[in-house]
Amino acid sequence: MSHIAFRDEAVELEADYVVVGSGAGGATAACELARGGARVALVEAGPWLDPEHYPHSTYGSMRDLFDDWGSQVARGQALWPLVQGSCIGGSTVINCAICVRTPDDIFEKWQREQGLPDLRGPILAHQDALERELCATEVPAESLGRSSALALQGANQLGYASRVMTRYVKGCLGSGQCLQGCRAQRKQSLNINFVPEVLSRGGTVLSCAPVRRILFSNSRAIGVTGRFRQPRTRRRGGAFTVRAKHAVFVAGSVTWSPVLLAQSGVRMPALGHYFRAHPGFGLFGVYDDPVDPNRGATQGWASVAFRESPGFKMETLAIPPEMMASRLSGGGTALLAKLRDYRHLAMWVIAVRAESVGTVRPGLLGKPVVRYSADRADMERVRKGLAQVARTHFAAGARRVLPVIYGLPYSIGPDEIRVIEDGPVDPRAYISILSHLFGGCVMGRDPATSVVDDRGRVHGYQGLVVADASVIPSNLGVNPQHTIMALARHFAQAALDAR
Ligand SMILES: Cc1cc2nc3c(=O)[nH]c(=O)nc-3n(C[C@H](O)[C@H](O)[C@H](O)COP(=O)(O)OP(=O)(O)OC[C@H]3O[C@@H](n4cnc5c(N)ncnc54)[C@H](O)[C@@H]3O)c2cc1C
Ligand code: SF4
Repeated sequence: MSHIAFRDEAVELEADYVVVGSGAGGATAACELARGGARVALVEAGPWLDPEHYPHSTYGSMRDLFDDWGSQVARGQALWPLVQGSCIGGSTVINCAICVRTPDDIFEKWQREQGLPDLRGPILAHQDALERELCATEVPAESLGRSSALALQGANQLGYASRVMTRYVKGCLGSGQCLQGCRAQRKQSLNINFVPEVLSRGGTVLSCAPVRRILFSNSRAIGVTGRFRQPRTRRRGGAFTVRAKHAVFVAGSVTWSPVLLAQSGVRMPALGHYFRAHPGFGLFGVYDDPVDPNRGATQGWASVAFRESPGFKMETLAIPPEMMASRLSGGGTALLAKLRDYRHLAMWVIAVRAESVGTVRPGLLGKPVVRYSADRADMERVRKGLAQVARTHFAAGARRVLPVIYGLPYSIGPDEIRVIEDGPVDPRAYISILSHLFGGCVMGRDPATSVVDDRGRVHGYQGLVVADASVIPSNLGVNPQHTIMALARHFAQAALDAR
């Protein structure tokens, strides 16, 4: 077993399978291939940080764990940030580990619209196993936190279904720090699960190793190449080449996988198309008694009651005080006065099942350029979703709600929710973050409208598989990690069966 970190010397290796990217898709595929007895090389652009070395501050985690220091944006009518991890474990290190099964209607949609076979059987079987292996459990009552308890109460009061979140977490301490990485190792991110297993099964892991190109012999992928790079200082090290006897698995994420394929000479009409997202929006309830939003699980409550219509999922979210400050308008003493309410604020969010589509293309210096705008229908979903969040806050006993929407009052009372319902449809009026991303290398039967088949194999190529969120051809309306991992496992098993 070996871990090859940044180095100045050149490295040349051979393996049965090379997997590019160690996030939800890549680490899962690599582990499954290694379990099948294959020699696996897992190649990751970001560094390897063990939980005791995670930075304490938000700035530090953006610097050390996030892709491009969290500075990527989707270019459209508004510039909304695209947030992803770049480290061993990928975005699973900085996410909230919420575990939701692929909804039934998604399998039907994939069959109907993409010409795919019914994937329900294998995907649900993999999700069963993943839930056991990664300890998917409900947030324990003692670490739920008051914000999530209030949300439960508000939803019950209004009579819609909601629940305590299930997450891949073993014994959550309720520190509200999932987004900075769980130093207590309670969250089962893949840097502490599948990646170490790849090593213990004789695999090799390269970190600080961004793959620049996939190598081909005619239309067969035979390996990858790149140059070591320190993500923080950008210092470049030696070249590396990893040859693959059987196949190259690409799992660099929705933004990076289409770009890597394009830069390696793959030309397909659907490559980089059908980018989708669940844009996330939040607002605050102000309560008389302290909520202490930084105590409790980062995300402890959810409702999918409005997933199908109008199309959003509701969740609670704890963000650190410095991020909260950036959401409250104003500066100087005015902002400080607002921050006096910090202990009394509860932030609840919506992830919108947006129908808008965008593109991912290689830009200058090889970085991904995402073009994406939410259309009017999606912005109407946003207004409805935020109004429902506001109603839930008031039902839970909030004194005021802070909508955080440009042009609206700083705070509103229970009889003013219509200002949100009638709010702007201009995306620039809203603060949003895109963290659930889909598409760019979508799955389907037709090579004119898709990039990979139902086993993740790139149409028209041999030995080239994509195994991450970029293959997902539609918005799920629920958190994607469970679906991504199950698909990656399915693709890895198919590759092993075809050897
Ligand atoms: C803040 C946040 C919270 C979230 N919360 C949840 C949640 O609670 N539940 C849920 O289901 N989903 C959640 N998500 C979404 C989920 O984490 C992602 O959908 C999922 O991790 C995507 O998996 P992936 O394999 O496509 O990419 P990632 O997990 O992002 O991994 C991609 C990896 O590939 C590496 N890479 C890219 N290009 C190259 C290259 N050329 N060479 C080598 N390596 C490369 C990257 O550095 C990265 O480490 C959240 C996401 C974020 C950002
Ligand atoms: S809330 Fe804290 S203890 Fe619980 S999983 Fe997240 S970071 Fe770990």
